Amino acid sequence: MAARPSPVPGSASSSRMMDRHFPTAGTAAAPSPAAMDAPATKRAAPVDRPGTAAAPYFLKNGVLYREQRHVMQGRGAAAMRTLIRGGLVLSMDERIGRLPQGDVLVEDDRILAVGPALEAPDAAVIGAEGCLVLPGLVNAHLHTWQTALRAIGGDWTSADYFRIMHGVLGPRYQPEDLRVGTLVGALAQLDAGVTTLFDWCHGNATPEHTDAALDGLLDSGIRAVFGHGTVKPQPRPGEPHFSEVPHPAAEIRRLRTTRLAADTARVTLAACILGPDYSTMDVCRADFALAREYGLLSSAHVWGNTNRLVPEGYRRLAEEGLLGPDHNLVHGTYLGEEELRVIVESGVSVTSTAAAEVKGNAREPLSCRVAALGGAPSIAPDTELLNGGGMLDCMRAALQLHRLFNNQHIVARQQAQPAAAAAQEIATSGSPITAVSLTHEAVLRWATINNARALRLDHRIGSLTPGKQADLIIVRRDSLGMIGAREPVQALIHFAQAADIRDVMAGGRLLKQDGRLLHPGLAAEKARLLASGDRLLAGTGLPGAAGQG
Ligand SMILES: [Zn+2]
Repeated sequence: MAARPSPVPGSASSSRMMDRHFPTAGTAAAPSPAAMDAPATKRAAPVDRPGTAAAPYFLKNGVLYREQRHVMQGRGAAAMRTLIRGGLVLSMDERIGRLPQGDVLVEDDRILAVGPALEAPDAAVIGAEGCLVLPGLVNAHLHTWQTALRAIGGDWTSADYFRIMHGVLGPRYQPEDLRVGTLVGALAQLDAGVTTLFDWCHGNATPEHTDAALDGLLDSGIRAVFGHGTVKPQPRPGEPHFSEVPHPAAEIRRLRTTRLAADTARVTLAACILGPDYSTMDVCRADFALAREYGLLSSAHVWGNTNRLVPEGYRRLAEEGLLGPDHNLVHGTYLGEEELRVIVESGVSVTSTAAAEVKGNAREPLSCRVAALGGAPSIAPDTELLNGGGMLDCMRAALQLHRLFNNQHIVARQQAQPAAAAAQEIATSGSPITAVSLTHEAVLRWATINNARALRLDHRIGSLTPGKQADLIIVRRDSLGMIGAREPVQALIHFAQAADIRDVMAGGRLLKQDGRLLHPGLAAEKARLLASGDRLLAGTGLPGAAGQG
């Protein structure tokens, strides 16, 4: 394995290299750094997701590069370059594909080139021989603030979750509980290969709670969408039910004009609203309009069951012109085919949380239904009270559960035609399934570029594409758990553990190196997390509370 010196500043030789690879002739320049860093301004609805169709790429000697005119205009002299060398590259970019042995060249916070045997004599080198190199995984839905309460609700019903988590434990949260839960949860995501997290924060009773959660998220170093949500208290006498209360516009305005003003920052803002299952139509209208007024992604928990507050809610929202790619819904398990078709055709992203959903539901997660309608499925873990929050676990669960449900459909069709079923049985020695219904590659796509698209970040992350942010992971293949696992995506999904994620880079910054998370003060933060959980559970008699084992 190659030695890994610290990144060194670019030199005159780096300019010569750019002369070779980045001729000034180009069809269009990438946005200038100044433009990329411009503070956000309020925009009129609808908000278009920036596209990539016009990205100025060019091929040279079989390597895909992106024109970087801004580099030529002054950044080059001080650029920091790192070459990740010799790994098996799973780019998740259709134009680059898979490289059996390839390099990724990073300059400052961006990917400069991806290809075999790149020349970069001035770059610091990270040897990746024998490893997988792929874009950082994207977690599209996690309630990170709940980290101190992991594994207390795996045997709960959904009603238990709402009664205990939102009714009993949620109100006990102090700002420090949100900070440390979010920080340690985000660090755990990084440790297990996630470089972007949609932190769906709905335990924030006051602005101080919100700021504390944001402090933890920012401190972790992870790229994130901070989803500002709302708590669900039991109403006091004279107070309206939470379903009748619009999202707090003052908080969105405060965050959007202060700490989370920039769309190009590492942490950006989204509005986590109640949506048509948990709020009235009037509140839906106000919340969708609020998100659009501030140019934000909105996201809502949705089941589509008969007890929802606004039946056919998404069809009605579509009729009012309120749906588009700037909305994300989570679950959607019971949505009818016609409403789901409206959702997909509107460009709304749908995030399935298979492991969490199957615990208390009788229908398949939506991913395959979304794909069949022409959408791009997104997957996530949801809440760590019920199941592990990592994307490696999430991909495993999604793949296996989708195959189970797909196979059930196939068998049901066969059994409706007994003659065909008999023929199948003879042909396949008993198994009624003659072709698998979902590939590992597809599930990895869901966990990377599709999840990035759900967060409206696919122009910046989700694949190893020149010009995108340098968010990537290096996965070793020599542990006892991984050794001998041949096909790389199958190896990743079924065999890789967090300990196999050797290096993690976000925005060109190494956050995990040689298997060690670089965040300072880990031991103290872990102790604070345990103390937080003890405080939250004290006297409840719940699993993990003092005296409950
Ligand atoms: Zn959730």
